[in-house]
Amino acid sequence: MTIRDLLAAADAKAVGAAMHAMVVELYPLCRSITGDGLRQTLAGIARRIPLAIHEVPTGTRVFDWTIPKEWNVRAATLKDPRGSVVVDFKDSNLHVVSYSTPVEARLSLAALRPHLHSLPEHPDWVPYRTTYYKEDWGLCLSHRQLEALEDGEYEVRIDATLAPGSLSYGELFLPGASEDEILVSCHVCHPSLANDNLAGVAVVTALAERLATVARRYSYRFVFAPGTIGAIAWLARNEAGLGRIKHGLVAACLGDPGPMTYKRTRAGAATIDRAVLSVLGNSGEAFEVLDFVPFGYDERQFNSPGIALAVGSLTRTPHGRYPEYHTSADNPDLVTPEALADSWSKYLQVFEILEGNETYINLSPKGEPQLGRRGLYRAVGGGGEGREKELALLWVLNLSDGRHSLLDVAERSRLGFAAIRAAADLLLEAELLAPASSAATP
Ligand code: ZN
Repeated sequence: MTIRDLLAAADAKAVGAAMHAMVVELYPLCRSITGDGLRQTLAGIARRIPLAIHEVPTGTRVFDWTIPKEWNVRAATLKDPRGSVVVDFKDSNLHVVSYSTPVEARLSLAALRPHLHSLPEHPDWVPYRTTYYKEDWGLCLSHRQLEALEDGEYEVRIDATLAPGSLSYGELFLPGASEDEILVSCHVCHPSLANDNLAGVAVVTALAERLATVARRYSYRFVFAPGTIGAIAWLARNEAGLGRIKHGLVAACLGDPGPMTYKRTRAGAATIDRAVLSVLGNSGEAFEVLDFVPFGYDERQFNSPGIALAVGSLTRTPHGRYPEYHTSADNPDLVTPEALADSWSKYLQVFEILEGNETYINLSPKGEPQLGRRGLYRAVGGGGEGREKELALLWVLNLSDGRHSLLDVAERSRLGFAAIRAAADLLLEAELLAPASSAATP
């Protein structure tokens, strides 16, 4: 089975529903860049695909960084002067600033205020905050809750540990006919947030699940790692094999109903950039293309100058560009099965191009070969029917000089990759083409 067959046979409704169910299942876990919530998330992925889980001990040097202490939180409450619980971790794990140190204190509202975070512009939402690399503590709450706090003595308790342990990440490798690899990565470090990043986790898991069932020219490597430190740890431990990675995508924010957005690689015109733009350009749907900036998700690590992998980022509405981003409103209701299924399909279409993007040589290059004799040309000339199909055949024949790939032909002809690939298949069958690598020069 090919990716094309897979896409044709897939029940988009069922695929979307399964991904949404995964988002709902993993949503309550308190993920961070280390800890048991992260491990439980990787275990949830491993129930669906044969994920290898790696642990990197606290204190390990990874390039310019050091693996931090492991953070785990069990409970957290804020009690008002009357002893009523006004903020409780049990209600939402966003209430505790990720990586908060343990606290057990009584303090005045004025002393407490610098540790409280809210969103005045969205008074009912709870923000998501972290303090990974500075030992501190804090609580997040809705602005409405914050405004209602009266003067007096508060009791805050955060039952957490920040201690030597390890950072966890998961990886799955699917070998293909070639050792050349396609890398797909997503971050797994956000607590109860759905679009950023559980949608990415669900789409990448479903991609791995289905790509395992098709014939592959490329090998595929799927990495589920905490943002920044996890990606850097993975790169540092896998540096020797990075040369096999030819193309890559960072998956995030793939469940909102907004249009697809592609952020180019640092080089800007790599094959992965062109493959994604070919899919989006032929989709008939709105989309946006952004140039590379060294900000965002882990594409910034993959595109750092000492790594320089051709990795772009394919999302729907990008980070920071939807109001629910990094708040309690980024919940499973924001993520739709339809958008998840569409994102999944777009990724597969990109892989279909990469898989099928070969370079050929026209074996009858002196004048046009006689297509009619081979049943490749319509019998009656002059009509419009079949014209595009013939044009695709003529473009492939014309540009197949061993120097142009099928993606080059698709771009120049503006006929779409699928039409060009189909034409090349017909010409191969008619023995008018041969792979550039194997053909004797005609
Ligand atoms: Zn984020």
